[in-house]
Amino acid sequence: MKQTYQELITKAVNTQQLTYEEITMLLGAGDAQQMLVRAADEVRRKAVGDDVHLRGLIEFSNRCRQNCCYCGLRRDNRGLERYYLKEDDVIDLAQEAVRCGYRTVVLQSGEDAYFTADRMAYIIRKIKENDVAVTLSIGEKSREEYRTYREAGANRYLLRIETTNEKLYAKMHPGQELANRKRCLYDLKELGYEVGTGSLIGLPTQTDEMIAKDILFFKELGADMIGLGPFIPHDDTPLRAEAGGDFDKSLRVLALVRLLLPYTNIPATTAMETLRPKEGRRLALGAGANVVMLNVTSRDRRGLYQLYPGKPRAKDEPMEDRLRLEEEIRAMGRTIGMTQGVSKAWQQEINE
Ligand code: SAH
Ligand code: SF4
Repeated sequence: MKQTYQELITKAVNTQQLTYEEITMLLGAGDAQQMLVRAADEVRRKAVGDDVHLRGLIEFSNRCRQNCCYCGLRRDNRGLERYYLKEDDVIDLAQEAVRCGYRTVVLQSGEDAYFTADRMAYIIRKIKENDVAVTLSIGEKSREEYRTYREAGANRYLLRIETTNEKLYAKMHPGQELANRKRCLYDLKELGYEVGTGSLIGLPTQTDEMIAKDILFFKELGADMIGLGPFIPHDDTPLRAEAGGDFDKSLRVLALVRLLLPYTNIPATTAMETLRPKEGRRLALGAGANVVMLNVTSRDRRGLYQLYPGKPRAKDEPMEDRLRLEEEIRAMGRTIGMTQGVSKAWQQEINE
């Protein structure tokens, strides 16, 4: 059996292709994990190098019109104190991040109607007066809105597909449709964004077969960035009593994604770190990840941006956190990216 796993991994390394059945088999194989991780680390090194790109994350509003069943920011969570930052406060925070050396700022929020396309365009334009890449992660919008942000200078957009299984998607996202989420991702692609997507691992009733299809979807879309994280149950959501996602399964998904999409940017996500506070980030970076997003939102707001419970370092000052990470990266023999860290997958596409 071991031989078979090794053969599959070699095939993935050499061809960047596996069938749906082969991916499913490797996802289920706990005893193939070490081989998988080792191969992914090697592919990561050859394809995107040793640089770890740091992103400054600004969580500028926790108000959301959507009702995703897993998320603490969902509309029906009435217990949560809601906040949003005014446009100029978002811009100030971004400028602070630039002063701290970040070459990318990520603006993330719930789907908050206050932030019209015009307000977002104003924020983006101001931030782009600095030499910095701007990533948006603000949910499902119309093609026209995406165009407005892009024309204002936004470079990248993160919108996870979460799951490509129609039934599970519908169950997890009352009032939303998988087809519209795909429409968003293809619109973003056509508008020239570097497009990030990804999945939640361990959603109730999710199977390895479903995750294998997610990975094939990332390939079909030509994703430039892929964020993967275990689902972590939140007490103030309908999924409070469900089992959460598994760390090792998430790590295998990450490693397989690196094998099959060698040139994408892959973050070591905070959710991975939440499940393994001491080593989650390091293990993800050692299994194919090459990006880390660090929170630069002020401490008092951070506690309120609770997608899921137990987010680590909620009380740390942004700079302490950053220094600790830099040490961790150097200790792994890796380097800190000094560029904007554009996705190599995207660079290759535009050069074609
Ligand atoms: N509203 C935007 C951005 C904020 S949510 C959007 O939905 O795209 C960002 C990500 O947090 C989501 O894509 C989801 O995958 C993740 N997330 C939400 N709740 C989570 C939970 N309980 N456990 C793990 N990740 C979660
Ligand atoms: Fe809103 Fe995003 Fe949370 Fe869904 S995942 S409820 S869109 S913040």
